[in-house]
Amino acid sequence: MNQTTTNLVRLENAEAFLTYQWPQGLRPSLETEIKLLRRQIPPGTMAVYTRLKKRRGRAMAKVVGGICQACRTRLPQTLVMGMDENQDAACCRNCGRFIYLAHPTPKSNNSRR
Ligand SMILES: [Zn+2]
Repeated sequence: MNQTTTNLVRLENAEAFLTYQWPQGLRPSLETEIKLLRRQIPPGTMAVYTRLKKRRGRAMAKVVGGICQACRTRLPQTLVMGMDENQDAACCRNCGRFIYLAHPTPKSNNSRR
């Protein structure tokens, strides 16, 4: 995953956590992280992110097996394969959300239980 996409995923998670009830001490560190992440994400990308959050509730969509999990559209293979190499965050052609690859856990890990 490229840095911008990684930051976007972390930002959305941090913002989701903020909606929970937190002990007084934890909230400021979460807000600091959000501020830091926002500074690292390019302004243009940040604007798209904010718009997506407003319109669709979530700005990020996981891609599993080449399919956007938010809108269930199969994405072009070239798009999915280029996701790790591109510096910019990739978007789903159908719903417009930023997409990121969910790497399945290797089977060897499951057998150790
Ligand atoms: Zn989609």
